[in-house]
Amino acid sequence: AELPADPDLTNEVRQVKNTLFSYVNPTKPSNPKLIHASEEVAELIGISKEETKSEDFLNVFSGKEILPETQPFGMCYAGHQFGNWAGQLGDGRAINLTEIEHDNQFYTLQLKGAGKTPYSRTADGLAVLRSSIREYLCAEAMFHLGVPSTRSLSLILSGDQVLRDVLYNGNPAYEKGAIVCRVAPSFIRFGSFEMLTARNELRNLKQFVEFTITHYFPEITGEPKEQYLQFFKKVADTTREMILHWQRVGFVHGVMNTDNMSIHGITIDYGPYGWLENYDPNWTPNTTDSQNRRYRFGNQPQVAQWNLYQLANALYPLINEAEPLEKVLESFMNDFNSDYKEMFLSKLGLFTSTETDNGLIADLENNLQLTETDMTIFFRNLSTVEKSDFAPEAIEKIKYSFYKPEEVSGEILEIWTKWFSEYLERLKAESLSDEERSQKMNLINPKYVLRNYMAQLAIDAADKEDYSLIDELYTLLQKPYDEQPEYEKWFAKRPDWARSKVGCSM
Ligand code: AMP
Ligand code: MG
Ligand code: MG
Repeated sequence: AELPADPDLTNEVRQVKNTLFSYVNPTKPSNPKLIHASEEVAELIGISKEETKSEDFLNVFSGKEILPETQPFGMCYAGHQFGNWAGQLGDGRAINLTEIEHDNQFYTLQLKGAGKTPYSRTADGLAVLRSSIREYLCAEAMFHLGVPSTRSLSLILSGDQVLRDVLYNGNPAYEKGAIVCRVAPSFIRFGSFEMLTARNELRNLKQFVEFTITHYFPEITGEPKEQYLQFFKKVADTTREMILHWQRVGFVHGVMNTDNMSIHGITIDYGPYGWLENYDPNWTPNTTDSQNRRYRFGNQPQVAQWNLYQLANALYPLINEAEPLEKVLESFMNDFNSDYKEMFLSKLGLFTSTETDNGLIADLENNLQLTETDMTIFFRNLSTVEKSDFAPEAIEKIKYSFYKPEEVSGEILEIWTKWFSEYLERLKAESLSDEERSQKMNLINPKYVLRNYMAQLAIDAADKEDYSLIDELYTLLQKPYDEQPEYEKWFAKRPDWARSKVGCSM
């Protein structure tokens, strides 16, 4: 409320200067229908299970009705896209309904796909069912994997048709429109600050940074400059932790533009994301990035640092000293590298460290690429290896992770045998029993992740108005580390038909 709002209340697409947000109401959907609601997220914000089934819930979270005494708004932000300055972007299809406080926590409730805003540029402000299903399920899957993320409250069909593609014969391919309500402490992005500095709106910058600190980081106190630095350090720390989790579970965001980076270090904006199936650091799910592969799995830590560099530049006019900002950026990578090593060792069930560990990790990262090897299945099944095993027995236990088991012979088999001999030797230096180690590993290496083909199957069924698979995957992914015998079929490698399928962005 104390931040400068856009005085122009028209919903025209425009450059919106000297402001942080514009009031805008959602477009009324013609025939909203609830597909799924997260009872857990509802409860988090003080909505009961029963209320999620009500007409009011449907109306509010489809954008049909505005909550009394609230003023929905779209935020103005800018950003670097694929390394290039993109200028003003803003909430082109996201509308913040309101911020609520529940159990001493702030939550912003945001509709995605609820119509045009002044930031819609040339697009329609809408979202299609398939991308909404992907966002809805993935955010909840991430949260339950222990990866900081926005949460999903609801997935609602709008009843309207949305145009995304034109068929080869020139006919328009209409798709069902949908609206997701997502929940986060706030949706403030690195790009929110970049925009103010780029426009030289330094008074707004100072006011916005101070608002952000007071409101969302009350633990930060002291002299103003010291506070701004602490804020930057906090964003760097939480971003580092988030990326470490991404690397642990094999998540590839796909569009790590600075406008898609949250200041809370939570994963936001699920577009063409994907999960590593065969372990390949060069893989990206984003087809528009297949040349440079800027946002490939193995480059996510470097990109995060680059994005933090842009945030540092945005905060610089308030601090006027490069050195303390540079120090944070440098320690980002040093800290990441040592955290990464510890994380990787823990995936191997190694909770102490020895001098040979770097070699063991590097060799494994190579070996996983000798022939297509499923990351999730490899690490999950590794927990069944016992100290008394010989290498061939251990290999047998992880063999299901090979996409082409027939290729694991001759020289490749020798390389694996050598690695497992070293690993088994190394395991002996650990004091945990096989049982204890296996239990700990199974809390680090998930059994179930949202593989692209799984989301695709749920999308295909939903297109035929069968929403049971959405509910099944939602339930499965609430306990990704548990053995769930009734869902064993989802502990499976990507089927061949899904090989070339990639994520979708719109
Ligand atoms: P993204 O890369 O998906 O985070 O989107 C980049 C920018 O494009 C953001 O400003 C979005 O709000 C905007 N945008 C994406 N899709 C749409 C759409 N269908 N309508 C309006 N704006 C959009
Ligand atoms: Mg975005
Ligand atoms: Mg997006």
